[in-house]
Amino acid sequence: MFIEPGIDQGGAMGAKSSGWIEVICGSMFSGKTEELIRRLNRAVIANQKVEIFKPAIDTRYHDTNVVSHNENSIRSTPVQFADDILLLTGNSDVVGIDEAQFFDKELVAVSRKLANSGKRVIIAGLDMDFEGEPFGPIPALMGIAEYVTKVRAICMKCGSVASFSYRLSATKDKVMLGEKNVYEARCRKCFYEDFDPKEKL
Ligand SMILES: [Zn+2]
Repeated sequence: MFIEPGIDQGGAMGAKSSGWIEVICGSMFSGKTEELIRRLNRAVIANQKVEIFKPAIDTRYHDTNVVSHNENSIRSTPVQFADDILLLTGNSDVVGIDEAQFFDKELVAVSRKLANSGKRVIIAGLDMDFEGEPFGPIPALMGIAEYVTKVRAICMKCGSVASFSYRLSATKDKVMLGEKNVYEARCRKCFYEDFDPKEKL
């Protein structure tokens, strides 16, 4: 489990001396958003000012809430561009960003600016897309973050530890109801058994 850095470790919980960046990444169904919400809720309990953002394109569940699969949710602001976050953070202590893989590359500069101005920045997102390739700004964010947590799912085919998001063939699906019918968490073996990177067009 992630333990927030204390002042004795050079962190700044409550001390306002320095900000930092945390990245929570992993495949679909790995509990990224749950972990983001857990960290944010603890900051809220400590009376820290928390702001949460998500890309406006992610409207799978609800327009204004960061919602995880267990329906444990927390209010968030949908924004079009990463730059918008800078205008909306104000005097917040903690900035949470969900589904960060869908943001433009500006999110890297935005996160750096926020952390440099003394804020704790917690970013959650997919580290790989459905082709097993690094996803959007997440790899660069992992590079500049102080803390990186890779969470893992359980392979829905064999039960091993899963790091990949396998997209089930759309043609096999009669109805695409939700992400549970569209994606499966897969281990490396089961992912590449059914996905050939050379098939890319
Ligand atoms: Zn497997």
